[in-house]
Amino acid sequence: MEKKCHSQITALTFCILLLLLYPYHARAHDVCIIGSGIGGASVAHFLRRYSEPQTIGQITVFERNGVVGGRMATVTIAGETFEAGGSILHPKNYHALNYTKYLNLKVKAPKHPDDPLSLGVWDGHKFVYKTLSSNSKLPIIQRIVSIANSVRMLLRYGAFSLFRMSIFVEVMLNQFLKYYEDFEARPVFESVEGMLKWAGLYNLTRRTLGEELVDAGLSTTLIQELVTVITRINYGQSVNISGLAGAVSLAGSGGGLWAVEGGNWQMAAGLINHSDVNLHLQEEIKSVSYLGDVYELNSTQGKSYNCQVTVVATPLDEINIIFNPKISVPPRKLQHTHATFVRGLLNPAYFGLGALSDIPELVGTIESADLPFSSIGVQKKHEKDITYKIFSREPLSDALLDEIFSVRVETIKINWGAYPHYHAPERYAPFILDGNHLYYVNAFENAASSMETSSVAAENIARLILSRLSGKVNCDSSNLKSVTSDPSKMNSEL
Ligand SMILES: Cc1cc2nc3c(=O)[nH]c(=O)nc-3n(C[C@H](O)[C@H](O)[C@H](O)COP(=O)(O)OP(=O)(O)OC[C@H]3O[C@@H](n4cnc5c(N)ncnc54)[C@H](O)[C@@H]3O)c2cc1C
Repeated sequence: MEKKCHSQITALTFCILLLLLYPYHARAHDVCIIGSGIGGASVAHFLRRYSEPQTIGQITVFERNGVVGGRMATVTIAGETFEAGGSILHPKNYHALNYTKYLNLKVKAPKHPDDPLSLGVWDGHKFVYKTLSSNSKLPIIQRIVSIANSVRMLLRYGAFSLFRMSIFVEVMLNQFLKYYEDFEARPVFESVEGMLKWAGLYNLTRRTLGEELVDAGLSTTLIQELVTVITRINYGQSVNISGLAGAVSLAGSGGGLWAVEGGNWQMAAGLINHSDVNLHLQEEIKSVSYLGDVYELNSTQGKSYNCQVTVVATPLDEINIIFNPKISVPPRKLQHTHATFVRGLLNPAYFGLGALSDIPELVGTIESADLPFSSIGVQKKHEKDITYKIFSREPLSDALLDEIFSVRVETIKINWGAYPHYHAPERYAPFILDGNHLYYVNAFENAASSMETSSVAAENIARLILSRLSGKVNCDSSNLKSVTSDPSKMNSEL
């Protein structure tokens, strides 16, 4: 009798203990995400994908604008849409590829290698390099022009230099592929430095692209012309950016580049729609206060929200969120890129040429203080005129546009706080801003800014959150729902 009573008391004590512990362990954690770009949307997606329903409760995404997507946005000119921000994706951007498949989005086919845009390198006075072009649609003619252009390029920049450049990019890409390895092979990273070191990419952020390429044996002409054209188009900056940002930029000039038909922003929209998220558009977060076990977020609409986890998925450099207690991130400047869309016709006289057809479809530029633009590229040829996209570091005045263009039917100007102004050596903000559950996806942008790098950083943040919520702070992800992320299983249909 006494023994039975004793075991009943033990069972009761155990039940009471379970009941006491239950609310803590079984409580689903609410997550607030500031920013609905590809970074914020990816955090929501991976949190849902990697966790059991009892771990993550409500996910709320706050977006100060009226639309999702952030730096992935389109402009419409005469009924046609064009990418105004993040536009091209690499064939090995596996998260983006997977998103498009998962969301049933259509991939805009890359341009045929035999029919690339004609290219000219403009120094402000003349084209120092220009590819040949032909209006013929005959494949044999296109092939001959393509071979002739390859020979021209080899003669100007040197076979060895061009080969070394492609090896430089290839090595970086292969190291980057490690970020798609399975959980067993890939730790969860608590810092950007740790993440870069593990993949063997950290040293590339200690020196400038220029220094790396000189050491790799590239000719000065190649660095000052083609490489500079590419870094000016992709990051609005010179070869003084870090080697890693430079290698990512160069990778974005290769073949097989693609985009989402109708706009890349649909990746963010789709991920948010499929992740059981409360989306608050036109609601800017102005303060984040840690109250001990929750964060209180206050918005410009005068509302306040409580979450156990808060994720900042936007660069902190040009926004005014007040953090309480204060956080500390290294100072960082954003490079502004002015994207100007013009429907009209370029003025051949501005380029010292006699006919419009002599102007290359992509005009790149070298580093020169008096050059008012970084690039001018044909977006679409219409019956009577052409839509162009111009990138510049400063806004382009109407007077200057009227010199560059002989006809200007429609003009749209966008000023982007586009990407970090890169340095070498780079310094990084922490992924965990306060030692608790305040996370920063865009700390990784100092390594390189792109839709894919934001997704890679976001995936790591989702794993980091889940690992730390489970108490396994030593970066063990054995508790996460196992999913395959082997790149070889992520077939590209491109
Ligand atoms: C002109 C240009 C060209 C580019 N070209 C390419 C390219 O070809 N390929 C490529 O891969 N990448 C490119 N990029 C870079 C790429 O677009 C970005 O790296 C990527 O989209 C960043 O995504 P994100 O989610 O990290 O940040 P963002 O897209 O900037 O998202 C942050 C979001 O947070 C919101 N927000 C900010 N503060 C608050 C607040 N307080 N409350 C609520 N919401 C807030 C913002 O409105 C924004 O929507 C380009 C960028 C630009 C500007």
